[in-house]
Amino acid sequence: MVLPAPFVTTATDGRSLVPGGQVYRPPSEADSLLLQVTIGCSHNRCSYCAMYREKRFAIRPLAEVESLVAAFAQGPAAPSGRVFLCDGDALIAPQTYLINVLQRIATALPWVRSVATYGDCRSILRKTPSELKALADLGLRMVYHGVETGDDHAMAAVVKGARRAEVIEAADRLRQAGIRHSVIVLLGLGGVQGSERHALETASLLTRIDPPFVGALTVTPVPGTPLWQAQQEGTFVLPDPWGMLQELRTLVAESALTACQFASNHASNYLPMRALLSRDRGAMLEAIDQVLTKRDAELLRPEWRRGL
Ligand code: SF4
Repeated sequence: MVLPAPFVTTATDGRSLVPGGQVYRPPSEADSLLLQVTIGCSHNRCSYCAMYREKRFAIRPLAEVESLVAAFAQGPAAPSGRVFLCDGDALIAPQTYLINVLQRIATALPWVRSVATYGDCRSILRKTPSELKALADLGLRMVYHGVETGDDHAMAAVVKGARRAEVIEAADRLRQAGIRHSVIVLLGLGGVQGSERHALETASLLTRIDPPFVGALTVTPVPGTPLWQAQQEGTFVLPDPWGMLQELRTLVAESALTACQFASNHASNYLPMRALLSRDRGAMLEAIDQVLTKRDAELLRPEWRRGL
């Protein structure tokens, strides 16, 4: 998820377009223009996350964002026709601010077809359904949401700042507004002890919210995070690769989704896959079962090729 960001360069006035340091975006936004409207994450407490620990959360002044958009207007269009609003949770910004940003994008960058951002329960539920609809009407088409788990115990343990019921409400509001919901879940988040419950509860939550996109990543404790500390102290035990695969199998087998692109092809995963779950479930399960049966590490992505 670390950016090779083609559009994050130096502004015409010499300021860095990334004053808050490194920015992140979903893999599928690789060809999008990245517009950093917030710096860091307003929550910044999830025990496994190191992305914004060095950043103090701030919403960039509107005038600064407008000057960035004006600078981008002098450059080429993004190949995808999309803009991604960074950083961690740009949706947390006030409604009037976001409306101004989206209007400015629409006016100054006529090639933009859609805008996406990260969001979470706090930021989605802070907006009323009609406010979300207003953002959708101005071009916000996708919210990437790190749901991570459907298990309330695991959510509380990693200080996610949300509960399963709130995820359901957030998903319903996005759907009503016509904003696509791209859900991220984290294999291994419940540890060995909570592994089965995490996988089953996550599958049942996915079935309930029925998102069009699900990305399964594998939790990787990062030095300096509370989860890494817990691992060092032995209070959190990460499932081994076969345990991770078993969780993936449960997700694939137990999630009943209407038309979901399901991907486990993130660099953190041991077995990359991408498929339309309703159509390809059988083939996916067969592939997972073959690996689980053989238990041959050669069939997994090697550790040296895995990353965050
Ligand atoms: S909400 Fe997202 S960006 Fe913020 S701390 Fe949690 S995982 Fe990291």
